Amino acid sequence: MARDCDVAVIGAGAAGVAASVVAARSGCRVTLIDVGDRPGGQYYRGADLSSLPSAGLDYAALASDLDRLVAANAVDYRPRTTAYALERAGQRLRVRTRGEARQGRLGRPAGPDRHRADVDVIDAGTVVLATGAFDRPLPFPGWTLPGVMTGGGAQSLVKGQHVLPGRRVVVAGTGPFLLAVAATLLEHGAEVAAVVEANDPVVGSVRQLRGLTSGLGKAGDLGRFIAALARHRVPYLRRHRVVEALGDDRVTGVRLARVDADWHPIPGTERVIECDAVSVGFGFVAQLDLAAQLGARTIRGADGGLAVEVDDDQATSVPGLLAAGETTGIGGVEAARVEGLVAGATAAVMSDRASALTPAALERVRREVARWRRFAAGLHATFPVRDGWVDSVREDTLVCRCEEVPVSRVRESVALGARDARTVKLLSRAGMGWCQGRMCAAAVDGICGFDDIASLRGASYRPVAVPVPLGALASEQVEG
Ligand SMILES: Cc1cc2nc3c(=O)[nH]c(=O)nc-3n(C[C@H](O)[C@H](O)[C@H](O)COP(=O)(O)OP(=O)(O)OC[C@H]3O[C@@H](n4cnc5c(N)ncnc54)[C@H](O)[C@@H]3O)c2cc1C
Repeated sequence: MARDCDVAVIGAGAAGVAASVVAARSGCRVTLIDVGDRPGGQYYRGADLSSLPSAGLDYAALASDLDRLVAANAVDYRPRTTAYALERAGQRLRVRTRGEARQGRLGRPAGPDRHRADVDVIDAGTVVLATGAFDRPLPFPGWTLPGVMTGGGAQSLVKGQHVLPGRRVVVAGTGPFLLAVAATLLEHGAEVAAVVEANDPVVGSVRQLRGLTSGLGKAGDLGRFIAALARHRVPYLRRHRVVEALGDDRVTGVRLARVDADWHPIPGTERVIECDAVSVGFGFVAQLDLAAQLGARTIRGADGGLAVEVDDDQATSVPGLLAAGETTGIGGVEAARVEGLVAGATAAVMSDRASALTPAALERVRREVARWRRFAAGLHATFPVRDGWVDSVREDTLVCRCEEVPVSRVRESVALGARDARTVKLLSRAGMGWCQGRMCAAAVDGICGFDDIASLRGASYRPVAVPVPLGALASEQVEG
């Protein structure tokens, strides 16, 4: 039997929390589904909220509202639960979930039936998709060596498990996230050998001054990161790129090169830095699997990556489906929060409730959305991903780690006549493995250089969005 609610929110990051609070305060019956143990998403999960401003529609105020609404049963909050499918059910939308909480890990039965009680079906008039994003790595020789990891991976290792990725770490790639990762590592006692930034933010930020000044609220964060780097005398190398990770059975160093404005290495500028871990990041990729199941239209975001297309009310091209936060384009945590507020207000109106946000408040929030989007566009223009990274991959560099597909096989697919991402996937197997292209899609797109919008991963339909045990699916068939 499907459970019914007015609004199902998928993802409890800044966007999902904001949407849930506004919809529930407006009188909607809300179900909030999230993979994590606690609300907060990538940015706030595990954060000390007492140190944040807690007023009005700030995140800390929304989070404490959410606690109250959950206690009052106005929000049915389901942590440790994955939404693995989203489909139409008559006039409503149906979310299929798999939760680990209800099983009680210790009391879990053994044998083929052990996944029986894991699955659930939720029907909602409106679904808010707020599933965020994941890291965008790009391959280079040696990137599969143990000790080389994404920035998000390094962050969650340190913040979540309290384990350092290494004693001496090189942080490389592009974007302000490198500074956040370096600051976290320093704070937890690692030595950061260098921050290696492929762009030139000094020149770039002068050019993007108008957009970047929209985000002056983030200047505090930036100042904190820069002060940490200065205190620990960490070199910040602009216009440099890691062209190879060195080592036999784990990373022992990196080869760097100075690069031109398109990221082509400049001959004669190479040098080696010793380290026992490398954290690499080239921005983020929006999580689109569930949106693709309903065929929601996508666009290219300001960073060139695919994102769900939304209008000013956060409505997608699919009736009943709203989206907010990084799912609609990589824009940072403040953009996610204010988009979530708008989505919550729209969901209330779609559920025939008066929105808890007054028209004046909603107008202010919409102006904030525009402001943070301008800031995001300024950041992406300052820290673009340039084509020159393709120069340092070798024919034998693995692109798809799951299926162990080297660059040569992707290029062979193009030579054989593949003209779109799907054909490359079928010919080379890149993107067919366990992670379903999460790690390699951006790289394969870049190597092939196709200009169409259907990336290897983004626009493809998968009936099951995340890995689910067959036992869970089978029990759903029997019961459903
Ligand atoms: C790995 C990583 C690390 C980051 N670290 C920083 C940082 O240090 N500093 C910084 O300024 N910004 C950081 N960012 C960016 C920042 O986290 C985002 O701007 C912000 O979190 C966006 O909020 P959101 O609500 O859109 O998404 P998120 O905060 O990502 O929240 C999305 C939530 O949806 C859940 N979810 C996803 N898929 C499903 C599903 N199928 N079923 C159920 N739940 C699902 C996720 O578990 C997550 O809790 C990071 C981003 C990533 C991806």
